[in-house]
Amino acid sequence: MSGQMDHANLFDDARSRLEEVFDAIGVQGDARERLRQPSLSLQVSVPVRMDDGSLRVFPGWRVQYNNILGPAKGGIRFHPEVSQEEVTTLSFWMAVKCAVVDLPYGGGKGGVKVDPKQLSKLELERLARGYVRAIADIMGPDRDIPAPDVNTNATVMGWMADEFDHLARGKVPAAITGKPPALGGSLGRVAATGRGALHVLDLWAARERRKPEETTVAIQGFGNAAYHFARLAHERGYRIVAVSDSKGAIYSREGLDPDPIMEQKTHNQRLHDMVYCDDSVCIADDVEKLERDELLTLEVDVLALAALENQIHEDNVDQVKARAVLEIANGPVTSQADERLEKRGVPVLPDVLANTGGVIVSYYEWVQNRNGERWAEENVNARLAERLERQSQLIFERAEREEISYRKAAYRQGIERIAEAIQLRGNCQDSE
Ligand code: NAD
Repeated sequence: MSGQMDHANLFDDARSRLEEVFDAIGVQGDARERLRQPSLSLQVSVPVRMDDGSLRVFPGWRVQYNNILGPAKGGIRFHPEVSQEEVTTLSFWMAVKCAVVDLPYGGGKGGVKVDPKQLSKLELERLARGYVRAIADIMGPDRDIPAPDVNTNATVMGWMADEFDHLARGKVPAAITGKPPALGGSLGRVAATGRGALHVLDLWAARERRKPEETTVAIQGFGNAAYHFARLAHERGYRIVAVSDSKGAIYSREGLDPDPIMEQKTHNQRLHDMVYCDDSVCIADDVEKLERDELLTLEVDVLALAALENQIHEDNVDQVKARAVLEIANGPVTSQADERLEKRGVPVLPDVLANTGGVIVSYYEWVQNRNGERWAEENVNARLAERLERQSQLIFERAEREEISYRKAAYRQGIERIAEAIQLRGNCQDSE
């Protein structure tokens, strides 16, 4: 079998971790059954009138893994490889993640199988609006609250939020998070995933008595999550020696400054008012160019994975020379690769903790929208730091006490909270 899984195995792989946790913490009966599959899975077809007058129909999905702790919550992905299997798995990870950081949410995820970079801006807007019309019946501030993910950003969320308002015949800002601030988005949301990942790295580094300026970092990806992480980590003193994107990678032993790289990479995008950036990090001057996946095998202190799932798998895990792995993307390390890293003593700061900054600030956006409030950015960032510190320390301490990996500790923490809620709801519930 190839080490890099296709989506057909993705959910099985995720579920195998779940079964281990059930056994480890003694989850039985109702909770075990309920947590094994999603509670709602909707497949839609989104017709889009193209600029040349033709009609194209794009397949899409919205999956609500559960809404045991609160409404389903999770992003929407536009990508040519999106599948129902992938969306289901991502919704499962969202359910675990929200519980790990104690948010009153279940898990959800959405996706459309499309190469959005092939669409004009107006075609993209029609697709975003069409997708919302297709899933509107299962959305809402108390039911399911979408947010951005790969290839969907604040601009796309703004169109989606506007469409939902039209359908609802009123303003429902809490129905979607990650909106532009002018449409009720929270200050601090754009950088929140990267900022959160940096907090988790900082907290771990402090426990290990490791100073930022003595720590080299390679980052896979240079999109929303990766760029803000890179920018803030650089400010904090970490040495970012390499970054990559889908087209290639760059390296500098002395360290890279992410801001001028982003300036250069997005020059054309700004000039032509494009939603996506066509250029690569490889456009940067005075840096060494690497093959894209060479970045994964660099000898660095921290390998930060911030692109897509399944990047470290059975076939390449033995080439990973990093001393620690930070999962900013969802599911970037397969379970087999994870076991190998654990055996080699390479700590992995897991996605269900390390990338929660985005959903935490999405939660703050939802709270602000529901209460008609606007919080200052410092206030948002301070609350994010405080929550992550509290929840991360619980996981670090649990991992130490039970002599298990950070991932196992985080899963135990999250699944215990969900299982307790299922039990407390009684024995006669037949629906959520
Ligand atoms: P994005 O679309 O902004 O960026 C994705 C980046 O990955 C791009 O730079 C792209 O070029 C790069 N990439 C794709 N394939 C690659 C490859 N094979 N090698 C190197 N780089 C590659 O997406 P994003 O929002 O930054 O999301 C990235 C990851 O973080 C996803 O797994 C997403 O689910 C996760 N995540 C994002 C958020 C968020 O708030 N945006 C929150 C939590 C988790």
